[in-house]
Amino acid sequence: MVKNKKINEATMAVWSGERDYLAFGATQVPVVHSVAYSYDDIDEWYEVAIGKRKGHIYGRNTNPTVQSFEDKVKELEGAEAATSFSTGMAAISNSLLTILKPGDRIVSIKDTYGGTNKIFSEFLPRLNIEVTLVETGNHEEMESEIEKGCTIVYLETPTNPTVKITDITRISKAAKAVGALVFVDNTFATPINQNPLQLGADLVIHSATKFLGGHADALGGVVCGDSTLVHSIYHYREINGATLDPMAAYLLLRGMKTLKLRIEKQQENALAVARYLAKHDKVAEVFYPGLESHKNHEIAKEQMRGFGGMLSFALKGELEAVRQFLPRLQFANRAANLGSVETTVGPARTTSHVENTPEERAALGIPEGLVRYSAGIEDIDDLLADLTQALDAIDN
Ligand SMILES: *Cc1c(COP(=O)(O)O)cnc(C)c1O
Repeated sequence: MVKNKKINEATMAVWSGERDYLAFGATQVPVVHSVAYSYDDIDEWYEVAIGKRKGHIYGRNTNPTVQSFEDKVKELEGAEAATSFSTGMAAISNSLLTILKPGDRIVSIKDTYGGTNKIFSEFLPRLNIEVTLVETGNHEEMESEIEKGCTIVYLETPTNPTVKITDITRISKAAKAVGALVFVDNTFATPINQNPLQLGADLVIHSATKFLGGHADALGGVVCGDSTLVHSIYHYREINGATLDPMAAYLLLRGMKTLKLRIEKQQENALAVARYLAKHDKVAEVFYPGLESHKNHEIAKEQMRGFGGMLSFALKGELEAVRQFLPRLQFANRAANLGSVETTVGPARTTSHVENTPEERAALGIPEGLVRYSAGIEDIDDLLADLTQALDAIDN
């Protein structure tokens, strides 16, 4: 492939990262299940082991199918390097623990993904790491906390499930001024819509389980950044062992070929659903960065190329209305995942924030009647008709 010439994301999604791993003239990357690699020449084996020569030693460290997946994500994020993990949470925890040590301080937002929030509230304080969580979208508060000094600024934008937006460029500038690293969970935006590294971030994190894979059939995580940072995170992971399985890597790689197509369709559907719900009398509030009514719509317009396939909405009838509404939907899985080709719905209390107590959810501004809606690639007329009949069934 021609280097240095920027190709479009749709082309990258199909072609990037694959050519170096094809074998026997096959057009598809093989799933290499081998745990270890055999060498007749012990000097060659040694050179591979110390990284002087290309090759593989043991599956916990590297694997060709896994590397092909990493290369594809790396190119889409415009990064120098990428390394992968068994899950998105493994990507997040391994990246944080590579850098943080006792006495450090991290500044983040209140409504990160539930699992991330647990790391902040339960595990990091145990290691004597100070965690400061600010109101999501309050840039002044975040800047003044960063000014006090910190090791990492951790962002997620848009957030799960209320799709709040943080200005990556602005916060990265504040972080740079105190020598802090900026991590951004880019799961909701995907590299099709947002490239945090180009906006000043140091590390971009994905739960590949969601939009990257896109078919709800494989778990995985991946991070991208400069070679030095990514290599140190890779080293932590190869020793601690949260390695991506080759079969999962293959499924993610295959899913990613249609990434651009899927995201375009999903965000077209999400916008139409958000506009429809915003006018519905049984709906109290709709959260979608593509709506002009969204608090940080202007920032989203500035840093994103599209607004993504995720939205959430609160029903006026709260939890009882959700109880009546959700089972009526015909074209939606009621499930804990998101980003798949099928529309997927669920209350925050059983999905993104299942790890939190009702009191914690309330403090995070997540109503118990909130429905998270991950738009699939179905025909929009069918999705709207489905929503109409399910909303009609609510009796208050
Ligand atoms: C799902 C999710 C994660 C965690 O990913 P897993 O693959 O489930 O471990 C992290 N961040 C966000 C924004 C997510 O939606």
